Amino acid sequence: LEEHELMAETEVRAQTCFLDELLKHGLLIDTGVDGLYGRNDTYESACDAIDKLIARIGRDEHAEVMRFPALMSRSYFEDSGYFKNFPHLAGTVHCFCGDESSHRRLIKCSDVGEDWTGQQQSTDVVLTPAACYPVYPTLAKRGLLDTAGALVDVRSDCFRREPSREPTRMQMFRMREYVRAGTAEQVIAFRQIWLDRAENLASSLGLPCAIEIANDPFFGRIGKVQAEGQREQGLKFELLIPVNEGETPTACMSFNYHQDHFGKTWSLRLATGEIAHTACVAFGLERLTLSLFRHHGFVPAEWPEAVRAALWP
Ligand code: ATP
Ligand code: ZN
Repeated sequence: LEEHELMAETEVRAQTCFLDELLKHGLLIDTGVDGLYGRNDTYESACDAIDKLIARIGRDEHAEVMRFPALMSRSYFEDSGYFKNFPHLAGTVHCFCGDESSHRRLIKCSDVGEDWTGQQQSTDVVLTPAACYPVYPTLAKRGLLDTAGALVDVRSDCFRREPSREPTRMQMFRMREYVRAGTAEQVIAFRQIWLDRAENLASSLGLPCAIEIANDPFFGRIGKVQAEGQREQGLKFELLIPVNEGETPTACMSFNYHQDHFGKTWSLRLATGEIAHTACVAFGLERLTLSLFRHHGFVPAEWPEAVRAALWP
């Protein structure tokens, strides 16, 4: 075997090992699908504590709370450009909407083990790919922003079609975000504040981290160019924590400046009538939770006192 093949094999084993441990301790529950897990009480209480810790850190800004389901409007989704940029990650909902005779065809198909899914039609809903997507059209519908702009606290189950045995790469996972809309200066300042806070957050949890410039996984050859542009302009940063053994560290938070992309898309405007800029900071709740188990062990009662105090004050 080539050296890089050996490396890759060791990495796969190490990840699988972490996943196996999580399953063995009952923290994650196997569902028969890679990247889709149930979770037990211990896992949920750690995850919940992280969510509340983030809320405490952001409390002084009085963000408006919005909670959306794991599904969103297909037309908002199409407008957002997600489908064009990340078709490989998107999940859409299809349903049977035929009459009696198409029902008979459907039954026949499934009885003989033929594919019946082609008899379904697309619906007006898709799986939410990132918690912030429903926020921009919601703000735009209200009319002009006021001079302070807007700040929204949002959290959602998110779907991405990236099945993996790496426990940090799930198909359905929870994402918490703060979303800011306003002038370029306002949203850049917001992002900077959270870049600083994020490092403190990680260190208060005893998690080693680094912040790095990053890009989104745009599809295809054109996508490479988009990704380069995004990096050159410093539009996306990530806070990385080593979670998977022998593997490059994992993005557990991201800090995104969209310039006027969403503003233009939905005609989201400032008090002056100009197009608004937006930014979001996203916390991967599963990845943060997993990093606690990775670094402090599988039994929260045995975690360092300072970490427990930060989570459960
Ligand atoms: P990656 O580069 O690892 O695919 P990302 O940086 O593109 O992730 P974002 O689109 O910025 O991810 O999503 C915000 C946050 O959601 C990430 O920082 C991460 O913590 C979390 N996240 C993204 N994809 C997944 C996934 N498949 N499983 C678990 N958490 C995820
Ligand atoms: Zn976002």
